[in-house]
Amino acid sequence: MSTSTETKPPNLKKPKVVVLLSGGLDSNLSTRLVLNQKIEVEAIAVKTPFCDFDCGKGCGHRVKEVAESLGIRLKTVYFGDEYLAMLKNPKHGFGSGMNPCIDCRAMMYKAAKDHMETIGASYLVTGEVLSQRPMSQHRHALRTIEEESNLVGKVIRPLSAGKLPPSDAETSGFIDRSKLHSIVGRSRKEQLALAKEFGIQDPPNSAGGCLLTDPCFSKRVNDLFVHTDGVPTLNDVELLKVGRHFRLSTEAKLIVGRNQSENEMMKFLYLDDDFSFEAIEFTGPLGILRFKNDSVLRNDLMPVAGGIVGRYSDAPRGQNIKLTVLHQQKESRIECQMLDNSVVRKLRI
Ligand code: SF4
Repeated sequence: MSTSTETKPPNLKKPKVVVLLSGGLDSNLSTRLVLNQKIEVEAIAVKTPFCDFDCGKGCGHRVKEVAESLGIRLKTVYFGDEYLAMLKNPKHGFGSGMNPCIDCRAMMYKAAKDHMETIGASYLVTGEVLSQRPMSQHRHALRTIEEESNLVGKVIRPLSAGKLPPSDAETSGFIDRSKLHSIVGRSRKEQLALAKEFGIQDPPNSAGGCLLTDPCFSKRVNDLFVHTDGVPTLNDVELLKVGRHFRLSTEAKLIVGRNQSENEMMKFLYLDDDFSFEAIEFTGPLGILRFKNDSVLRNDLMPVAGGIVGRYSDAPRGQNIKLTVLHQQKESRIECQMLDNSVVRKLRI
């Protein structure tokens, strides 16, 4: 029977942390280093319109697997229009391509902070390695990202902690700094050794960056933003990922599929206001002509678009080509001159 003299046991439960998890190796290792200190961890994974997860090219499918192997809960957050609005004019500019890494990471940190507040976690853990990436992982950038997300002192970077100013978690003794690492730079030697220690089979290769770091893709993104009043739509962005792209005028762009799966994806992305083109008598790709608004050049550009789509069909070079055109659910037919390679090349984005 309890009496009034009984005292409750002290609450020995340590505060939780949230880890920004990708399917890559670094955040996996960081999580393990924290779990090793008996700290409770939950994960958040962020998907932007330009990457699967975090900076992981194609590693998105692994993130659930990684969370499962670590035995931690995972929340997934999808950035959409708000990400495109940021990309229109990122406060901290771009990297070598159209990658706004500092603003992008700040958005990810903010999403993680929201999750921390929801579940009552005190710190954020990331897999960042000092000087591994040119834009977002040098000392000053890491600090800027913390400032932008109001997380100054609240971020634990277990792989590079020894080379960075201690976080509040380290100075308060919440986590033992002496058990964290001092990795710097792009070599993955130390991470691979650590992966071996943890018994990680087939550690994934270094992921590089998202699509926005790809020079060819960046050209398309830049062209889209330059020619869009306001912010492009997610449909516009998805269309950037398929086909060959041609800038026909400041108001018109043509996309031509490169294979059957791209043609299928383009059919899915086709909007009623678009014009789709398909050759009638020969096998050929799907073309989508998209105008920014009611262009006075519409009639002039139809044969140009048809001539390019025809160029990629099986029809013999140099002959006229007949195509069906679908617009506003009405189908019509046009016949136009197939365009020369030299003309087609000039219009390619
Ligand atoms: S490469 Fe840069 S822009 Fe792309 S997901 Fe990573 S931080 Fe964001």
